[in-house]
Amino acid sequence: MFTTLASILQSFNLSIIQSFNPSISTTSLVWNLQTTHVRYLNKVMELQDVIIIGGGPAGLNGAVVLGRCLRKVLLFDTEKYRNRDSHGMHNYLTRDHILPTDFIQVCHDELKKYGVVRITKKITEAKKNSDGYFVAIDDDGKEYYSKKLLVATGLTDNLPTVPGFRELYGTSVFHCPYCDGWEVKGKKIGIYARNKEGWELALALKNWSKNVVYYTDGKYNIRPFQKDQLKANDIPVNSVPIARIEGEEGLLKKIVFKDGTEEACDAIFFVNGFTQQCNLAEAFGCEMSKKGVVKANKFQQTNIPGLYVAGDVARDMHFVVVAAAEGAKAGVSINKELQKEITDRKALAKATDDMFE
Ligand SMILES: Cc1cc2nc3c(=O)[nH]c(=O)nc-3n(C[C@H](O)[C@H](O)[C@H](O)COP(=O)(O)OP(=O)(O)OC[C@H]3O[C@@H](n4cnc5c(N)ncnc54)[C@H](O)[C@@H]3O)c2cc1C
Repeated sequence: MFTTLASILQSFNLSIIQSFNPSISTTSLVWNLQTTHVRYLNKVMELQDVIIIGGGPAGLNGAVVLGRCLRKVLLFDTEKYRNRDSHGMHNYLTRDHILPTDFIQVCHDELKKYGVVRITKKITEAKKNSDGYFVAIDDDGKEYYSKKLLVATGLTDNLPTVPGFRELYGTSVFHCPYCDGWEVKGKKIGIYARNKEGWELALALKNWSKNVVYYTDGKYNIRPFQKDQLKANDIPVNSVPIARIEGEEGLLKKIVFKDGTEEACDAIFFVNGFTQQCNLAEAFGCEMSKKGVVKANKFQQTNIPGLYVAGDVARDMHFVVVAAAEGAKAGVSINKELQKEITDRKALAKATDDMFE
């Protein structure tokens, strides 16, 4: 429907209008018709300046910047932010040990004042229409339109399937020593990794405790030089398959092995990879890194014009403060691009009018 209107407007017989007003130039006329077209789309399509998909720290910080730039912003979120199981958030000054749900609530309260509309819905598809606008489609099939798109949909950690991991995740089972190492300093720390990447995490955790044990759960993917390093740093390797882990009131107590033996342990850090929470950016054609995150330049811009990414979905350190900073950068970049489009259009109109004066 919108495209039909566009083509009618664009193929309009300009000479008819010019016969009424011979002083009007063809270029000027086309500009006016295009502007009318944009205004029409704004009204009928409820065209947004920006649609943000994902309401974690990245999406929310992008939203606050754009809201404060008086942009029309629609933010979609399924409220499954990555650290929702965490016992307390760290490495974000002024918010030490805040519960992630409380942190998000503070963000929501602050956003209200800037007119950002937040919708708790999943976006299942994103594409561009023939007018060059972004179309985001929710899980009920409803379409939403915008000039720019910010994807901040985050990652999900692949939690090992060993019984007990899910229950203790975020309180005694972790993946990031910078986020949770301080809380278990000096305690007995287990590293869980069936892949070949656990040895580095094991070495890193020696910073927080002398008592670190590497559990490989029936696998042995350790190369000779890694074995030497582990040995030199007093990190024993236990390869017995694990039956389950047990805890009380969120605190890990022991690891139970399939051979019937048990070992006391206070915390486990695991390495088991991550996946994108959703594949919207990849399906759109965004370039991905080998690690499975979206490639973006320093302005958070992807290879798709008008499509920006921020936070864990993109390539950088996975911290709340970094995600929020990338959201802010994306917000500024998007605002500048929108501003440039308006000033360019105005400059073109002025130039064409001057030419025919
Ligand atoms: C257990 C744990 C503890 C952590 N602790 C810390 C810590 O102490 N300090 C720290 O700095 N970092 C910590 N992190 C890392 C931190 O959680 C991430 O770096 C941060 O959440 C990234 O923010 P984000 O906005 O990119 O993604 P997220 O916070 O994951 O937010 C993405 C949002 O997008 C939504 N979404 C996804 N797909 C769609 C879709 N199709 N439609 C609509 N919405 C969608 C999700 O529901 C989610 O709300 C921790 C992570 C974990 C797992």
